[in-house]
Amino acid sequence: MQECLFCRIIKGEIPSEKVYEDENLYAFKDINPKAPVHLLIIPKKHYATLNDLPDAEMGVIAEIHCVIKKLAAEFGVAESGYRVLANVNKDGGQVVYHVHYHLIGGRQLRV
Ligand code: 5GP
Ligand code: ZN
Repeated sequence: MQECLFCRIIKGEIPSEKVYEDENLYAFKDINPKAPVHLLIIPKKHYATLNDLPDAEMGVIAEIHCVIKKLAAEFGVAESGYRVLANVNKDGGQVVYHVHYHLIGGRQLRV
């Protein structure tokens, strides 16, 4: 089976504009930004959706939020404001089936 797009990005097989990396996480600029700041924060371990993330491994979501907080400050949107979202499955608008959080900011976002 073909490996998933984000797993290939983590491995460097597909180029990305990396903004953060540690042992468990990788973050990069969205290729099709919806706002001046649009970053994706992902666990290095592959889970297709949040439904597939075992309760025992939810710690990685806390780690993602720590990085989101740091990146929001670094990209100058912490005070102006930003949105954090994770799309799950078809009705949620998920297109890439590797768990990821969007950090979107730099303009007034409407619902
Ligand atoms: P989803 O709709 O699954 O929550 O969001 C997937 C996101 O991944 C989209 O915002 C899309 O622009 C982004 N994306 C898709 N392919 C690539 C890629 O090859 N590189 C980067 N940097 N972002 C991608
Ligand atoms: Zn993957």
